[in-house]
Order: sequence, then C-alpha cells, then structure tokens
Amino acid sequence: MVSGRNGAYNRLVSAWQIGANRDLVKKSAKVVVHSHSHDHDHCVADALAAAERLCATKGLRFTPLRRRVLELVWLSHKPVGAYALLDKLRSEDLGSAPPTVYRALDFLIENGLIHRIERMNAFVGCSHPGEAHRGFFLICADCGNAEELEAAELGEAIAGGAAKRGFTAREMTLEVTGVCADCRKA
Ligand SMILES: [Zn+2]
Ligand SMILES: [Zn+2]
Ligand SMILES: [Zn+2]
Repeated sequence: MVSGRNGAYNRLVSAWQIGANRDLVKKSAKVVVHSHSHDHDHCVADALAAAERLCATKGLRFTPLRRRVLELVWLSHKPVGAYALLDKLRSEDLGSAPPTVYRALDFLIENGLIHRIERMNAFVGCSHPGEAHRGFFLICADCGNAEELEAAELGEAIAGGAAKRGFTAREMTLEVTGVCADCRKA
C-alpha cells in the first residue's frame, strides 16, 4: 500500500520536474546536464518523507503550501531564490501571496528542512534534516549545485577559537565555492 502510494507520487514529481526544469534552462546561463548523475526523484521523496516524519513528531502542521515550497526548493540541488519560488507558485492555488510564502520558507528554515545560502540569497533543501549540524556548503561555480559539507570538527575548531576570544558562537555558515566532482569529470 505504501509503495503504491509512493509510486504514484514519484510519477507526479517527475511530471512537474520536467516543466520546471525547462524553466531553469531558459533562465540560467549555464546548464549542466551531467549534474543529474543520481536519482533525484529519490532525493525529493526522501526529503518529503523526512519532513512529514519531523512535523508529525514535533506536532507541526505540514500544510499543502509548506509541502509545495519544500518540493520546489528540492527541484534540484541548485539554491533557488524567493522570486523564482513566487513565480512558480503564482499559477497555483495554494494561497501563495508573498508574505505567506516567506512564512513557509521561515518555517522550513526554523525546522531544519532547508538552508539559506547567504551569498546567493537563495534556499536549498537540507540533506539530513532533524540532525543538529552547521550550514557548511560546497557551491559549484559551474553547475550551481550546493552540496552540504559534513565537517563537525570544523565547527568545533571555530567554536573553540571563538571561545578563546571570549566569544560565544551561535550560528555558523560556511560557503565554499569551487568545482564539484561531476563538473571536474566533464
Ligand atoms: Zn538529488
Ligand atoms: Zn542541512
Ligand atoms: Zn558542478
């Protein structure tokens, strides 16, 4: 029963991804096809399932708009800006006035389901929601993908260095630009 539902869902995701990817192709200067060297439907399904679990555990409402915004952020591994999200949502009937969409984004950030990439003022899905971690990212200058970097020891080092100066570190973001493995292979 569960697998049947997921199957239907995956087809749904694929259907809107095709349309949305066409939009991305039009808007972005550089489009790197080989960056989809994995089953991205899987990433999306995992992210939505994790969000459902997390909201159920915390007693939070995973409203249709919150769900849709999360889906749109997960369209790819490229950070997506608020305007692009609003554009996509405009044609849909989910009560997606800008303040509502911003609140949905805040909700997703606060609950660790997405991250904001400061240097791009854009959002990207969190690949391990529900786990405490810092926002460390490797951002590819060629394909635009942002990959989470798991480096707890780095956070410890920064917090330790800050503490030596009597500074209590609270939030940390690290955005490293470069070229990803897929683009280096190309
Ligand atoms: Zn993916
Ligand atoms: Zn994350
Ligand atoms: Zn790349």
